Formats: sequence, structure tokens, C-alpha cells
Amino acid sequence: MVRKATAADAVRNRVNETMKPSPLRIHRPTTVDETLDLLAARGDTGKILAGGQSLVPVLNMRLAAPSDLFDITSVVGIDELEVSDADGSEEICVGASVTHRRVERSAEVTRTNPLLGEALRFVAHPAVRNRGTTVGSIAHADPNGEMPMVLALTGGRIEARSRRGERTLGAEELNIGPLETSLESDELITRAIFPALSAGSRTGFDELARRSGDYALAGVGMILDVDGETVTGLRCGFVSVTDVPDILDLGEAVSGARLSDASEVAATVAEAARDFIDPGGDIHASADYRRHLAGVIASRLFRRLCRSDGASGRGTAADSRGEDSPVVTTGDDTERRRA
Ligand SMILES: Cc1cc2nc3c(=O)[nH]c(=O)nc-3n(C[C@H](O)[C@H](O)[C@H](O)COP(=O)(O)OP(=O)(O)OC[C@H]3O[C@@H](n4cnc5c(N)ncnc54)[C@H](O)[C@@H]3O)c2cc1C
Repeated sequence: MVRKATAADAVRNRVNETMKPSPLRIHRPTTVDETLDLLAARGDTGKILAGGQSLVPVLNMRLAAPSDLFDITSVVGIDELEVSDADGSEEICVGASVTHRRVERSAEVTRTNPLLGEALRFVAHPAVRNRGTTVGSIAHADPNGEMPMVLALTGGRIEARSRRGERTLGAEELNIGPLETSLESDELITRAIFPALSAGSRTGFDELARRSGDYALAGVGMILDVDGETVTGLRCGFVSVTDVPDILDLGEAVSGARLSDASEVAATVAEAARDFIDPGGDIHASADYRRHLAGVIASRLFRRLCRSDGASGRGTAADSRGEDSPVVTTGDDTERRRA
């Protein structure tokens, strides 16, 4: 027997026609326990909603059609942003609902791990950073995203909880492919933890994008370890030119170099960067161009960090701009510069 359409069906149909996403139920849990219950019951067809800056466009284009959304923005206890002391070394704990903007603006974060704030200024526009969360960005695992790279480069980790228990994952265990993590569908990342940088570390981040606020064509993060005038270590992470945030460790290649030899060593750094990455080409840039860019940015960043006034680092207040920097879109979103 054919069921007669009811008034409720009419309303449902009208909603389905007018909503951009496929029909879904939105849940607003207020505790972690409630969230974990929802994830245990419906996580396999549902999705966590944090700032929505990556997920909502995907839903609106109907590239994903989850049955349920678990909006975690009102969950109590996951909004902490603090520097804590773990076994004598400081680390930054970023709760799951903390926005990019809060992290970027935190003086404590800048003091402890300046690379975070530096890279965050290149994430989209302030409007996006006001809503988007740093943990959401890490969970999204976009190879074009700055935060998964910073987590990997600084040796960070995340804590994930489910009804089955809690586990801690380093960046290399978490990221298994582009937009793909090893998280299970019932797991919530409760926080990301970024270790403090050591006193002798200098850091920098630069990228090139076609327009201010766009995803980078290529980006490089760098941590240079220095003892006096001598280089003792160098690690590089990349944005938009590797599938997952793999880290290039150039410690052996450059250790012992003098800071005054930066120009010669920079050529080695550029070549190593170009060899290490495996970019894809698309309508924005060919693979060769991205490879070239990554080499240029790596070389210029290295030279910048070798200058005492060109690097950020614990205890320095250096501006990240330097005369050797490529033309880049700046973190203040409005200007393009040849710094
Ligand atoms: C115009 C525009 C430009 C952008 N440019 C950049 C850019 O240049 N660089 C950049 O890095 N990003 C960029 N972004 C993305 C932005 O950084 C997002 O904020 C971020 O990627 C996702 O954070 P979110 O809180 O919005 O997460 P959501 O969009 O809510 O979620 C993203 C994904 O992560 C999952 N998720 C979220 N939180 C958790 C959690 N706690 N545990 C488990 N899973 C979780 C969700 O289920 C979803 O699959 C841009 C976005 C826009 C709209």
C-alpha cells in the first residue's frame, strides 16, 4: 500500500531542496563523555564538527554526506590553551575547540614555540582563523595545511579519546595520507601538544601563494639549531609539496658549518629540499615549479635564520621578515611583500 504524503514529508522535502548539505542531524554535546557516546553510537556515519571551515564547504558541495554532525564547540574541558611543565620541559597544550586565532595571539605560545604563531599567520584570513581550530586542522590532515607540518616538525603529538580508551599519537603515526589519518571513527582528538623549542633553536616559516590567504603553492618551515656561531642541526617541514608532513633532517649535512658560510650551505639545503619532496602539479602550478619554489624558499629561509636578526626563536623577538625572503603573502593578509 502506498503511504499518503504527510505535512511532515512536505516540510522534510522542502528542507532537503533548500539546504546545501544533504539532510543530517546536528548534535550539540556539552561534555566529552556525551561526545564519546555519540561517536560510539554513530561515529561510523557521522562527523565531528569543530570550526567547520573545512568540513562545511565539503558538506555544502555534497562531497560528503554524513548522517550526523557532532558539534564540539560547546563541549566543556577542551578549550584549554596553556603552557605546562612536563618532566622539566615546557609544552603547549591546545584543546580541541581552541581557534587558530587564540593560538596565534598567545604571548605564551610565541615565547615557547614561535614557529606556531609564525605559520598560523599564513593560514587563510583572520575570519577563517577566528572560527577554524588548530586541532581541526590537524585532524583534517590536508597536505596544504600549515598545522600538520608544524606538529610534525616540532615533534608534537595528539591525544585521542573514545569509549575504548585514550591514546597518544605522534604526527608520523597520525598522518597516513593526504586528508587521511589513523584515527578511528569513534575517536575525538581532545588536544594537540607542541613541545617548547630549545634555547638554541631558531625558527622560520615562509610560503608562496598566488593570493593572500590562499593555500600555499609551496611552503617551508625550518628549525635551525645553533651553538654560538656554529650550526648544530637543521630540520625542514613542507607544505603543499608532500602528501604527509615528512621531515627532512639535514643535521649531518650542515652540522659544523659556520653561520657566516650561510650562502654556500644554502645551496646544499635547497638541493636537498628539491630532492626530498614529491609535489604534484595542478592548474595552479606544475610539479616542477612547486619543486623549484620549495628549493628557493628553503635556501632563503636558511640564510635568513643564519642572520641573528632574521630568525625567531626562544628569547628572540625578531621579526620574521628578512631581505632574502621571496615574494610571499604575509600573515597580515593585506599586503604582498618582497621582504
Ligand atoms: C577560505 C579558506 C581558506 C583556508 N586556507 C587555509 C590555509 O591557508 N591553511 C590551512 O591550514 N587551512 C586553511 N583553511 C582551513 C582552516 O584552517 C580550517 O579551520 C581547518 O582546516 C579545520 O579546522 P576546523 O576547526 O574548521 O575543522 P572542521 O572543518 O570542523 O573539521 C575538519 C575535519 O576534522 C575533523 N575534526 C575536527 N575536530 C576534530 C577532533 N577534535 N577530533 C577528531 N576529528 C576532528 C572533522 O570531523 C572534519 O573531518 C582554509 C579554510 C577556508 C574556508
